[in-house]
Amino acid sequence: MKVLVSSCLLGEDVRFDGNNSSIAMGSSFTFAQKETFMDILCDNEIFSFCPEVSGGLGTPRLPAEIVSAVKPFKVETNNEEDVTIPFLIGAKNALEMCLNDDIKIALLKSKSPSCGNIKIYDGTFSNTLVEGQGLTAKLLDENGIKVFNETQLEELKEFIENN
Ligand code: SF4
Repeated sequence: MKVLVSSCLLGEDVRFDGNNSSIAMGSSFTFAQKETFMDILCDNEIFSFCPEVSGGLGTPRLPAEIVSAVKPFKVETNNEEDVTIPFLIGAKNALEMCLNDDIKIALLKSKSPSCGNIKIYDGTFSNTLVEGQGLTAKLLDENGIKVFNETQLEELKEFIENN
């Protein structure tokens, strides 16, 4: 199976703070989770992608949150700079990659304003999570691409095995 994976989960230093969210090296993941992740990497064709970098943002960059989660979407940095356009371009580029390469599954980083698939920060920069999707996760989901996050590795593995 082909799987689009957030570059930061693969260990690439593309996060806003210049770091990564490596599953393989991260201390917050159990050995079992790392093993499941390695199985997924070994048994599938992996496409590494970072929507925010693809959309033209540099690394490191200011943290951003979605301040309007309904159309017209608005994404702002913590100094109120409007970064909606690069976020939308990144989402569009992710979808284009999935459509061009026939990718039907994505493993995306949770809570990110681009990649989060279940919860995102509420736009107040107060560390408050609300139910919602990042712009990339939302666009992929709307186009039939099944999106998982790094806390759903077993579900992802099971989904791959059954499809
Ligand atoms: S946009 Fe997605 S892939 Fe890029 S750093 Fe943020 S969470 Fe990771």
